Amino acid sequence: MDNCIFCKIVAGELPSYKVYEDDKVLAFLDIKPVNPGHTLVVSKAHYQNLEEIPEDELIAITIVIKKLGKLLKDKLAIEGYNVCENNDSVADQEVPHLHFHVIPRHVGDGLRTWKHVDYQAGEAEDIIKKLQN
Ligand code: AMP
Ligand code: ZN
Repeated sequence: MDNCIFCKIVAGELPSYKVYEDDKVLAFLDIKPVNPGHTLVVSKAHYQNLEEIPEDELIAITIVIKKLGKLLKDKLAIEGYNVCENNDSVADQEVPHLHFHVIPRHVGDGLRTWKHVDYQAGEAEDIIKKLQN
């Protein structure tokens, strides 16, 4: 897709530090890592988000993420990692080309993940009704 930076990286028109590549998937280092080794796993074809990507391509990405987690643990001596994927700008998706973040974690690295809240009375039941009907 024109003007998509990740399509340009896939096409070799922009540089990247490639970690892994196959016919459907590319993994490369995030240019501004949350922690060193932070890797982005992208579909080679342009899809904006999870709703758009065909299931076989999503499975291919998931298999790469699984391998990558082990690679990062084995080679970078990390203790764990987060896998996350932002859908749409309200969820902090800055680059509108589907990508998963694999973020190395170290004991005491000080990163926080989510803020948790409590349900109001009846709220969980309302949500379940909406989701199940
Ligand atoms: P998101 O906010 O989920 O869309 O994440 C976009 C990510 O892409 C950010 O973590 C950026 O640091 C990263 N990024 C942007 N441009 C590049 C680039 N040219 N090469 C590698 N990573 C990039
Ligand atoms: Zn793209």
